[in-house]
Amino acid sequence: MNTKNLTLFKEKLSAEKVELETQLAGISERNPSNPNEWDATSGGMDIDAADENEVADKMEELEENSGIAQKLEAQLNEVKAALERIEKGTYGVCEICGKEIAIQRLEANPSARNCREHAA
Ligand SMILES: [Zn+2]
Repeated sequence: MNTKNLTLFKEKLSAEKVELETQLAGISERNPSNPNEWDATSGGMDIDAADENEVADKMEELEENSGIAQKLEAQLNEVKAALERIEKGTYGVCEICGKEIAIQRLEANPSARNCREHAA
């Protein structure tokens, strides 16, 4: 892949990373002992002090957020892995067959690890 495309994908991935981190920060907080992990929050309310209905609402919200946070976290880790591949010079190469991944495929999904043939 040429430098121009590589720079372009790096920009795309960096923007995606910021976007995902912003979304995650809204519904969860980074695990202090593992920066790659995010724990869903219920909006910072003191559950002990709340009434029963509020607690039920918050528990529901927490459950929902934790599902969303899990998906965002997985996406974020893919994006970070792709950025690492750019640094290492292995970006855009299929992890299975070692062939270059089609640009169109990377444009649709900049963190793709495999060519179309070896897509999971
Ligand atoms: Zn392949």
